[in-house]
Amino acid sequence: MINLLIIDDDNIITELWHDYFSTMEDYTISTANCGADGLSLIKSNDFDIVITDINMPGLNGLEVVKHAKKIKPELELIVMTAFGTVELAVTAMKYGAFDFILKPLDFEAIKIILKKCRDQMLVKQENRELKELNELKEKFIAITSHELRTPTQAISGLSEVLFGELPEEVTEKFQIEIDVILTACKTLREIVEDMHDLSSATRGTLTINKFPFTLDELEKNITLNFRLYSAKRDLNYSINNKLKGESFIGDIKKISQASTELIQNAIKFTKDGGNVNVLIDKISENGTDCLIIDVEDTGIGIPEEKTGKIFTAFYEVQDTTLHHTSETEFMGGGLGIGLVIVKEIVKAHAGKVSVESTPNKGSIFKICLPFN
Ligand code: ADP
Repeated sequence: MINLLIIDDDNIITELWHDYFSTMEDYTISTANCGADGLSLIKSNDFDIVITDINMPGLNGLEVVKHAKKIKPELELIVMTAFGTVELAVTAMKYGAFDFILKPLDFEAIKIILKKCRDQMLVKQENRELKELNELKEKFIAITSHELRTPTQAISGLSEVLFGELPEEVTEKFQIEIDVILTACKTLREIVEDMHDLSSATRGTLTINKFPFTLDELEKNITLNFRLYSAKRDLNYSINNKLKGESFIGDIKKISQASTELIQNAIKFTKDGGNVNVLIDKISENGTDCLIIDVEDTGIGIPEEKTGKIFTAFYEVQDTTLHHTSETEFMGGGLGIGLVIVKEIVKAHAGKVSVESTPNKGSIFKICLPFN
């Protein structure tokens, strides 16, 4: 049911509207004879659409639109005007009116305008619901990651301490189980940390600590992580650091994390026997020197139409019904948030991340960070 208010100082016009809409079941109609009465009805009622004449003594239609939009921004307003004053209707639309109706009234044309208006209301309503849903999702991630962080850290840290203190003969007996527990703790900790980072990034509270570091340090971190994640895989890898001895100002932990996310993906999406190559280099972009971290693989690649979506949270190209959790196995799935974190870390360094990919040939992910 649509609640309609007609404001016009001409009683014949308000009666015309009344007669026309009284035959329509999905509309209830109220009328006001001047702008001031119209506004006070708008304040005290929940109208969906208000149709107001522009030329009225006292508060005119333009003022009605302006005030009504302030009181109830969601309200849709349509103005009525005579042919010679269309420019006033254009002004009303600048103030937020949805459209205008020309006098003398043509109810067939009016029906079309009202249909357009109702369609727009529906789209706005759906957008509001989507926004609310998105806010709920973000809140859920923020609370869950926050609540899971402390117990996860406690379980993980204390397991390491506990297992480190066991007598040797006990440790040997339970070694496989202990390894499973420690690996599970590490995976859990990383998932929770990624969720926490995603949540901080979407709320704009990702902490970045910029200090000078050498690119040898970055190479060392990348190499260590590479060894860690590719240990169970048969991949050829190379790390080519062309900037040995050079320094960069940024958050070494976060830049290493971003590089590792890309490397982990390259490992996950490349079959055994394939190659993963990392290049650390410098290029000049529009006169600015930039640090480049390229991660190139000979893996499954990404279809062109999907490359724009992979930087969106929880998006995965592969079929998620076949999802199995693994950090390094071929096609082992994650949460689908690694690349969002990469994008946010890179953004916090005023840089860019891009991808070039060919299905069944491989991908190159490129991080580009300005030196100053
Ligand atoms: P996750 O790896 O946890 O699924 P990401 O955000 O890191 O999440 O990546 C999103 C998706 O992008 C992956 O699920 C995968 O479909 C695709 N992708 C990322 N990197 C590569 C790559 N190197 N090769 C092929 N596909 C990739």
